[in-house]
Amino acid sequence: MNSRSATVLAGLAGVRGWQEDLYRDLHEHPELSHQEHRTAGIVAKRLRATGFSVHAGIGGTGVVGVLRGGDGPTVLLRADMDALPIREATGLPYASTGTASDAAGDEVPVMHACGHDVHVACLLGAAQLLADAVEHWNGTLIALFQPAEEVGDGARAMVDDRLGELFPTVDVALGQHVLPAPAGVVGTRSGPVLSAADSMRIIVHGRGGHGSMPQATVDPVVLAAMIVVRLQTVISRETVPGEPAVLTVGRIAAGTKSNVIADHAVLELNVRTYSEATRTAILDAIRRIVVAECQASRSPKDPEFELFDRFPLTANDSDATARVAAAFVGYFGERSVVLPMQTASEDFSDIPTALGVPYTYWGFGGIDPDVYRRAELAGRVSEDVPVNHSAVFAPVIQPTLDTKTEALVVAALAWL
Ligand code: ZN
Ligand code: ZN
Repeated sequence: MNSRSATVLAGLAGVRGWQEDLYRDLHEHPELSHQEHRTAGIVAKRLRATGFSVHAGIGGTGVVGVLRGGDGPTVLLRADMDALPIREATGLPYASTGTASDAAGDEVPVMHACGHDVHVACLLGAAQLLADAVEHWNGTLIALFQPAEEVGDGARAMVDDRLGELFPTVDVALGQHVLPAPAGVVGTRSGPVLSAADSMRIIVHGRGGHGSMPQATVDPVVLAAMIVVRLQTVISRETVPGEPAVLTVGRIAAGTKSNVIADHAVLELNVRTYSEATRTAILDAIRRIVVAECQASRSPKDPEFELFDRFPLTANDSDATARVAAAFVGYFGERSVVLPMQTASEDFSDIPTALGVPYTYWGFGGIDPDVYRRAELAGRVSEDVPVNHSAVFAPVIQPTLDTKTEALVVAALAWL
């Protein structure tokens, strides 16, 4: 074990008490994307008390803490803060029971079902440990708490709000996520680790009329059906075999009545890719196919395309990942593993990409190791281990909090 890590982490026992209380409090008081006011207030107050200079209200509710520890590299550690519109069913004594008004103005339940409460509590713990041991490292530490990861635009909102002017040039940005894996385990991966995600809404136009007189109409239902079938050839015939990619038409809507031919149809689809080249190729192919099918159907008006819910590719820098992985193996030993490629998506990389700096993003487990082992032995991992975004996803407090706090400190010290 690196002796500086051991020195800094000697303070962990003193942090654990308030950190666990804070975690339970955050879990009980989740806030939806862009509404993280209470959480941001707690974060800013604690960072100030720890000696960080604090910039609050960045990109709405984002908070950035900067701690200078002498000349040396600048390391950015990032946590996300938002929760989801899910009714919690964990039965925990600190379960959320609250509701909130969502972006559309509807009253919805709220739950920390993605573990961002873990992320906040652990980054605050790591910030305290590093601040208390500032004489043992050199450089600048940035603790960044971003809003609205779940809707994919919180990182971008901070970048657009002068983020790059708040601190010195960053040498590396580090992000993490709690996963449905055994608590105590950390996983790193070089190269693509999370997919890029793009949703697209397409409106195709027909000419409405009586269902008994199709010759006087252009039927958008048939047109939409042809598009759905033809889109199946994009992955099977156009992308490189062996490179993962997904194209799903998740919604199709047209018409009001069996004997009325509608005048338009709406398709909504979702694309997941692991390289920018494939991403661009698939989005171009979709447009090409839709335009061609509209022509084939004598559509009277051009189709309309709208991209939404877009998440960037997360592709870890190989040098930064190797440095973190080596530090993790030194500290965690066999508990440091290679993270499998994930199909989920994240907006974290928008920050390092905008700053033009390398990054690495790792995963860590949040499931009680005994529960996980029993599920594995019974061949029931997918049935018995709750996943992120489920109403029963609640990481076991320990060793989850300790492990992630240790990982943040160990990784930051690999540069500082
Ligand atoms: Zn999530
Ligand atoms: Zn998440």
